[in-house]
Amino acid sequence: MSDYTGSFYRHIAQTSDAPMGLEIDRAEGPFLFTKDGKRYVDLISGIAVSSLGHRHPAVISAIKQQLEKHLHVMVYGEYVQEPQSAFAQLLTDQLPDSLDRVYFVNSGTEANEGALKLAKKFTGREQFVAFHDSYHGDTHGSLSVTGRNVYRDPYEPLLPGVTFIDFNNDEQLSAITEETAAVIMEPIQGEGGVIPARPDWMKNVRECCNETGALLIFDEIQTGFYRTGKLFAFEHYGVIPDIICLAKAMGGGMPMGAFVSSSEIFTVFKHDPPLNHVTTFGGHPVCCAAANANLQTLLEIDAPAKTFAIAEMACHMFRGEGIEEVRGRGAMLGLQLRDAELTQKVVEECFKKGVILGWTLHSNSLIRIAPPLIIEPDLLKESFSTILNAIQKFA
Ligand code: PMP
Repeated sequence: MSDYTGSFYRHIAQTSDAPMGLEIDRAEGPFLFTKDGKRYVDLISGIAVSSLGHRHPAVISAIKQQLEKHLHVMVYGEYVQEPQSAFAQLLTDQLPDSLDRVYFVNSGTEANEGALKLAKKFTGREQFVAFHDSYHGDTHGSLSVTGRNVYRDPYEPLLPGVTFIDFNNDEQLSAITEETAAVIMEPIQGEGGVIPARPDWMKNVRECCNETGALLIFDEIQTGFYRTGKLFAFEHYGVIPDIICLAKAMGGGMPMGAFVSSSEIFTVFKHDPPLNHVTTFGGHPVCCAAANANLQTLLEIDAPAKTFAIAEMACHMFRGEGIEEVRGRGAMLGLQLRDAELTQKVVEECFKKGVILGWTLHSNSLIRIAPPLIIEPDLLKESFSTILNAIQKFA
């Protein structure tokens, strides 16, 4: 065991008794390289982060250029910083007119925190509707709208006034009332087991929000930036949210998040009191420069075609004993296996063979597959064959 692995187990706060514990030396494109000289194919992109692969040259170059100019200079929202403004412009150019203002933060959960506060302040209401099996992050507000009791119970009391209803259930939409500040949802539930919303149901959710004056918040932290084949998953549905939350793949590997809404809605952050939502590091110039290069590159590489090819190969190859379903959309895929035991064996076997897979937080019989969109078809096929062989060996 190296000194650093020893220190990892002694001094890094652990969140499980069984961390993967890979000692990373470097990462490039779809590969992770460990200190002991092994190469792994990263089929989960650090959980839907490195969509352009690790260390994409455009992202690295943008970071280096910004390093030569300045790092942090002031808390959020006071100084004009070129990388922030340039990225906000590029991002909002891709969004509908009603999503024209960006508040930058550092992570997904922070984006959701901001969105919940914004909805409360704008509507003057206190209640939220959220969904069973959702995941929105681990800070108190986001956890309050996360639909799994096992994660919530140890931290109660959480935010009051949150009603959980079933995803894709029409009758329960009556929970959305004139008391509801916002409905918060993932268009495709990620940690819940890669479960897409039904298009007609999504339209009904929008309709209920329109009728009651509740805001609709889409948590696209996992689905955003072409993971599902469109820049944002809401584009599949033709339903526009009032607030969209972003993070993960946004920064091209740098910590970056945002909640985006309309100028009208954001006005409420300016007064009563002024500065009522501030952050020191949100919109860090180096992260914004990276995010700008990341998005520019994603827009240039025909990401939808690459994502579609990944989905097609998965649907074509993953058949046979032990496999119950291939779920998801684009390159946000879940391989539903027969049971948890088989899933664990397959993940472990693939790990031994140099292919990194994962579970989702709420499901232990589903393999998460979220490759970098830039993965070459031959490497993808080889990696999928490794998975298939493992399933055949243990099913
Ligand atoms: N929302 C969704 C849908 C997520 O998948 C995640 C992370 N898995 C989060 C929020 C939280 O993001 P972060 O870990 O950056 O706080």
